[in-house]
Amino acid sequence: MAMPRAGLAAAPAAMPTPAAGMKPRLAPMRVSPDQLIDMKCCIRPLRAAGPNLGTEIVGDRLVVHNYGHGGSGWSLSWGSAEVAVGKALSVLPESIAVVGCGIVGLTSAVVAQRAGLKVTIYARELLPRTRSFRASGSYTPGSRIALVGPAGAQFPELWEQMARFSWKMFRTFLGLPGNPVEFCDSYNVSDKPIERRKWPPNPAIAGSWETAGLPQQNSEFAHLDERIRDIVPQPVDLAPEENPFDTPYAQRSSHMYFNFPAYGHMLLTEFFERGGRYVMRDFHSPAEFAGLPEKVVIHATGYAARDLWQDRTIIPVRGQTGWLVPQPEAHYSLRSNNMSLLSKADGVVVMNNNPDMGDMLGVGDSTELPNRAPIEEALAALAPLFAPLAVRGGRS
Ligand SMILES: Cc1cc2nc3c(=O)[nH]c(=O)nc-3n(C[C@H](O)[C@H](O)[C@H](O)COP(=O)(O)OP(=O)(O)OC[C@H]3O[C@@H](n4cnc5c(N)ncnc54)[C@H](O)[C@@H]3O)c2cc1C
Repeated sequence: MAMPRAGLAAAPAAMPTPAAGMKPRLAPMRVSPDQLIDMKCCIRPLRAAGPNLGTEIVGDRLVVHNYGHGGSGWSLSWGSAEVAVGKALSVLPESIAVVGCGIVGLTSAVVAQRAGLKVTIYARELLPRTRSFRASGSYTPGSRIALVGPAGAQFPELWEQMARFSWKMFRTFLGLPGNPVEFCDSYNVSDKPIERRKWPPNPAIAGSWETAGLPQQNSEFAHLDERIRDIVPQPVDLAPEENPFDTPYAQRSSHMYFNFPAYGHMLLTEFFERGGRYVMRDFHSPAEFAGLPEKVVIHATGYAARDLWQDRTIIPVRGQTGWLVPQPEAHYSLRSNNMSLLSKADGVVVMNNNPDMGDMLGVGDSTELPNRAPIEEALAALAPLFAPLAVRGGRS
């Protein structure tokens, strides 16, 4: 007998469920350390007030900022580029410069080209060598995107506009060769009932970003995902016979993610086919922008803006991923106790996020050296979940 799903108690009769003993079969993932082929570490450019999309004049150049997207740079890239390019277009340029070729700069360049502009990218590195390529790569538009106080009352609406616009753009890449954007089933399994953790303000913690220069607790972070729950698939509780794993509790949702090599190739190809130019260049001060031939510059240097533009409101938030040998036969993601696996085209992403730290994990840490121990800890903790799948015989 199927247990009713949360929130759907009125309609169980209409829902066909597998008979008891016929659990859905999934191909087990191989999660042993010998499968670990890479580890990546990078800094999320969290800006206290949210991404800088302001403008300023340097010499006689109009500079439109587009940096500081925290843990959401991939997810907000199209919406954010739309705002930045809109501001660039206000002075009717024929050509513009984009400084930076991470996911934010490159997307801005392509959006500007689609609007009819000639674009030159100036950057130290092209996308595959940037911090952006060291992310995990899911649609997470609300991840460490801003702090509530500094972001102010207007920011949630701008965020929602960017998140919705980006979501629509990602939908246009589904099913393209190489699957630059894909969905998969995402399982969250547990020994205890699964509840979304809340982080009320902790009065025992003194200080805040305003007084300490760094957030001091989770409740300072803006949590905006509720605003787009009508378009993003939400988790449903699974009855035991619907749960491919042998845990007492499980949820399933559908998860949008990005395959970086295919996605990067697609964007760079479009940029160059539209006549885009790339100049490898290292800037040392904003004054150098005034010497560029283009009258309008979109500035998208990500975390590097902290030094280049002396923007001390950018807060480093360290994060790391492990990568296992690709396992296309196991096309899903799995989370348990904040340890997770996501099977992508170029490998299975492993993450180990301390459940008691929440958004505070990595805050203020700007070291970019990977640490293997937490990755191996996640592999050891997750491996036993797959033993029953192997016994039942898996399916992709
Ligand atoms: C572990 C981890 C997981 C993440 N997962 C996700 C996720 O699932 N989804 C998501 O949306 N986001 C995720 N993020 C966040 C995402 O990676 C960032 O928000 C994003 O990469 C920021 O991109 P960017 O283009 O602004 O900056 P960058 O990628 O850092 O690009 C900056 C560009 O500027 C250039 N540059 C910098 N300084 C100079 C200079 N002085 N002169 C010339 N050029 C310069 C660089 O060469 C580069 O081309 C994650 C981050 C981490 C750390």
